[in-house]
Amino acid sequence: MGKGKNKSKRKNHDKDNRYSMDTHLIYGKNISDKWDYSHHVTTPISSSTTFRLDSVERGAEGFQQFANSAQQEGKPPIYIYDRLGEPNKDLLEENLAYVEKGEMAVSFATGMGAISAVLGVLTKSGDEIVAHKTLYGCTLSLLTNWYPRYNIPVKQVDLTNEENLKNALSEKTKVVYFETPSNPNLDIINIHRVAKIVNQANKNREEKDRIQIVVDNTFATPYCQRPIELGADFVVHSLTKGIGGFGTDLGGIVIGPKKFKDAILLYRKDFGAVLSTKSAWAILTYGLPSLPVRQKRQIKTAQRIAEFLNYHPKIEKVNYPGLRTFKYHALAKKQMVDFNGNFAPGSLIYFVLKGKNPKESKEIGRRFMNYIADNAYTMTLAVSLGHTRTLIEHPASMTHSLISADELIEHGIDAGGIRLAIGLEDENDLLLDLDAALNSI
Ligand SMILES: *Cc1c(COP(=O)(O)O)cnc(C)c1O
Repeated sequence: MGKGKNKSKRKNHDKDNRYSMDTHLIYGKNISDKWDYSHHVTTPISSSTTFRLDSVERGAEGFQQFANSAQQEGKPPIYIYDRLGEPNKDLLEENLAYVEKGEMAVSFATGMGAISAVLGVLTKSGDEIVAHKTLYGCTLSLLTNWYPRYNIPVKQVDLTNEENLKNALSEKTKVVYFETPSNPNLDIINIHRVAKIVNQANKNREEKDRIQIVVDNTFATPYCQRPIELGADFVVHSLTKGIGGFGTDLGGIVIGPKKFKDAILLYRKDFGAVLSTKSAWAILTYGLPSLPVRQKRQIKTAQRIAEFLNYHPKIEKVNYPGLRTFKYHALAKKQMVDFNGNFAPGSLIYFVLKGKNPKESKEIGRRFMNYIADNAYTMTLAVSLGHTRTLIEHPASMTHSLISADELIEHGIDAGGIRLAIGLEDENDLLLDLDAALNSI
């Protein structure tokens, strides 16, 4: 770790924009003060919960530097204990901040660890959160089961309509929170417009009272969308999904302005949702370098499958940003673009099976899913997404099953709605299994 020891003539290319982001995702920050390992091609794995300190003085300096950017500025880190920080996580954080165009990143054990940390740092009792009406199930639970207990009310409104946002903001609002595309129905929220409205509301506020925009970018991944470039303050991800990419490790990340890094690190240390080093290493070694290849393939397949589903007589509607018939297609085309500016509509599809009423649709959905569970080779009945395997789930009877069939629609979910998360299979094989499943209902 010593600075100056293995000094080589190696050039730093991390901000060298002659190289494409696809390449940067493979090499990352090729020289980092987080860890000096100049003779490994693949990052070695750090496997130590605690770190030897050369002297009491070095220990004291390490504790003073922890979560203290001003003290740490320009110095290589002094590692003390894995819950405070460790090289594999630091390297992953540097690379993820870079790809999302944020100033800093802090990793967490899971996506929920990241989401609860950013909200925990940005709010206190008496503040309010404004959130989109449709959210990932556990985020919805966090905001509706826990935050009211801390006296932090959450207003859920339809953020696809700007007027709703303007009406929902109050003196007490500290955070505007949403996913785009949202889970599971793929609503698209105009990040740039939300930022404009929030900036207006922030005009008369002191720096410390500013409303912060937090976007869960898990569905799009940074390959398809970089919310900070569009005006968001923070991005959160479940690294468990498209970024991890193989379905082997849980993880989460918060990316945002430098000035919040110390508070988020302190929160992570004390609440303890620390990313496992082995998972950080796997995401750094397998997930990030393969993100562009996987996304390109998944987008191509998703487009073909969405077009097939769109004209199927047993399907009422298909939400996929790449479909011209999709309500938010024009907006998606503007905000979901890859590193070269090409439209990148993502790997998730939401479609609704026809039924006479919510009850019947829910029942048809149940039968459709059970047929797939028994017969399909290329689709797996499972939650999660961004996997090598295509995963399919029925929110009404699974992730959102606690909500009654009639109330689902208030949360933007249809009783017959199916979420399909495309994997890396041959598209024709997926069509074979989907066609058979649709014929069975
Ligand atoms: C999975 C997911 C989360 C939670 O992530 P975990 O890693 O499972 O904790 C949050 N938001 C979205 C959109 C997700 O898909």
